[in-house]
Formats: sequence, structure tokens, C-alpha cells
Amino acid sequence: MDKKEKAEKVALLLQKEHPFPKTELVHSDEYQLAVSVMLSAQTTDKKVNQVTPALFAKFPDWEALASADINEVASLIRQVNFYKGKAQRIIGAARTVLSLYAGALPRDMTKLMKLPGVARKSANVIMQELWGIAEGIVVDTHVSRVSARLGLTSKKDPKKIEEELMNLLSKKYWRNFSGSTVLHGRYVCTARKPKCGECVLNEICPSAYKV
Ligand code: SF4
Repeated sequence: MDKKEKAEKVALLLQKEHPFPKTELVHSDEYQLAVSVMLSAQTTDKKVNQVTPALFAKFPDWEALASADINEVASLIRQVNFYKGKAQRIIGAARTVLSLYAGALPRDMTKLMKLPGVARKSANVIMQELWGIAEGIVVDTHVSRVSARLGLTSKKDPKKIEEELMNLLSKKYWRNFSGSTVLHGRYVCTARKPKCGECVLNEICPSAYKV
């Protein structure tokens, strides 16, 4: 089996496990999803979900957040890592959404990446979660780790990993692969003690029972 065939097999097996993968960031509209994604960098979704109810109660939309006091925002999100920088960036993002995009998130990677706090990974998540548009593959810590263990990449840089995965997989798999691999990494192919015995990929994984 060559690398492309293997990548496709992985994508199909994970698709069977997670036919409709969704983010675990709790949100009810695009504002909440985008802010939650920005807060989730270097932080677990669980932690983000703990702080967002109070944040969204106080600042329910882009307008409210754009004129927020930074210290108040920082205090509401202080349980997430790098909260001071994130408070500054989400306020900056709100101002950018209002000034550049008339209050609505653009359905465009390049434009989304103009928002402070939105790099390629976050833009991919927002596009895929909100509109089902996959212009790339989400590469977070889980996707990096699972792809490396499976022998799909030897790169360390997320951008290079994404390019490699995009070359291996046809576009129709990108969206599901992103979501299902994140969940697989979070619950099965965990950083420590991966559960190889219950992994649907264990027959094709070169790292099975070796980590
Ligand atoms: S077999 Fe083990 S190391 Fe390989 S993907 Fe599954 S859980 Fe991860």
C-alpha cells in the first residue's frame, strides 16, 4: 500500500468512526464559534467551554466585544492560557469584523486570517464548522501526532504537515479527516498511552503498540 492509498484508508476508517464530526466548542452562532476558536489556541476545548458562558453573557455579539474593556474581558477568560493576549486579540477581531466586514465573518480564508488571533488552523476550523467549506486540513496537536504515528508525515511544522496531507488526500476527504482525526487523537490516539487495542487503524499503523 503506498502512502496515498494508506492516507485514503485512514480517512475512510475514521469517517466510519465519526461520520459527522463536530467541534466540541459550545456555540450558538458564528460570533461565539469564532471567539471560542480564538480562545482555544494552546488550551483545551473543555477549558474554553468553562469561560465562554460568562463571556458571551456579558458580550453577546461583535458590537459589544468591540467596545469592551480589555481588563474586564481578561478577567472573564483568565482560566485559559495566554488570556491577556487573547483578550486583546478577540477585541481586535471584533473591531476588524465590524470595520472590514460589516459585522459578518467573511467566507474566505485569506480574509479570515486578517483577524487578529486567526491563523490558518483557526480559519480552517471556522470555515469547516460554520459553512462546511474545506479549503485545507485542520492541523492541530492531535492531527500532527496521529499523522506522524501513522507514518503519513515526518514534518513538524503544521503548515508543511497540512500541505503533505492535502497532497495525499483528495479534497473530498479534507473536511471529515480534519474533524475525525482531531477526535481520534483526543480520545484514542492520545499523547500518552494511546489505546491501540481499541483503535480502528491498528492494522495499518506502524506505531501500533509501540508508543
Ligand atoms: S494504532 Fe495506536 S498509535 Fe496507531 S493510530 Fe491507533 S492508537 Fe495511534
